[in-house]
Amino acid sequence: MQNLIEFRHVDKSFEVDERQVPVLHDINLAIKPNSFVIIYGPSGSGKSTLLNIIMGLEPPTKGIVRIDGREIYTESTRARALYRSQNLGAIYQSMYWIKSLTVLQNVALPLSLSGKTRGESHRIALEKLKQVGMDAFAHYMPVLLSGGQQQRVAMARALVAEPTMIVADEPTGNLDSKTGDAAMNLLMNYHRSTGCTVILVTHNLEYLSLSKDRYYMQDGRLKLDTDIHTTEHVSRLVSQMRNRLDRGERGQVRDVS
Ligand code: ADP
Ligand code: MG
Repeated sequence: MQNLIEFRHVDKSFEVDERQVPVLHDINLAIKPNSFVIIYGPSGSGKSTLLNIIMGLEPPTKGIVRIDGREIYTESTRARALYRSQNLGAIYQSMYWIKSLTVLQNVALPLSLSGKTRGESHRIALEKLKQVGMDAFAHYMPVLLSGGQQQRVAMARALVAEPTMIVADEPTGNLDSKTGDAAMNLLMNYHRSTGCTVILVTHNLEYLSLSKDRYYMQDGRLKLDTDIHTTEHVSRLVSQMRNRLDRGERGQVRDVS
């Protein structure tokens, strides 16, 4: 089977104050369709940068990126944007709503952008909202909803165009554990029922057991997490991350619904 995502010797640096700051080093990846991949590792290690490259948002400094067999960074920005709108769903820790639009209009937006009519977009969006149990809130403004409700709507927005790939960057980062678990269930159910590939970045090591297909990112290097991580190693990582979180390296917004 052809890889859905393939990275060959990918490096990424950012220019800061006219200096190149290396962020990713020699990343090699081969992800098959229908995978559920988890990437974890300390804050600042390069996870979001990696996701941005996968999404076609950030060209690598060196190396080859193939998505679905296409070398996306040899294509135009416009071609990548079209590919993204038709094939990719993204879920973040913060929601990035268009604040002047209702829940329904926000969820329908990816469909309108990919060329569907308003009526058709709204019909499909409402269907998706029903699937995540949020259809009763279709005409609310998103910011009026609780954190957990907003994450459900964000999930509907990510799924509405029936993407072949979902990229989730710490989607439970701002949720309490119960709401986070519910969001994760939604994601897992969608993956199981559609075979959609999921790339999940998480700070929550309780979710590591969701997949055996795991990578650990540290200082811009990606390691396959198979047997190299003993239970002892994982629990050390958990406590390291907890300490980072305790130092406030994560938003403190909590869902109180
Ligand atoms: P993670 O998601 O693992 O927390 P990121 O990918 O967000 O890590 O960031 C990795 C490193 O790259 C950090 O040191 C961050 O400051 C740096 N970085 C990310 N984006 C940019 C940018 N646009 N310009 C300069 N540095 C950046
Ligand atoms: Mg990040």
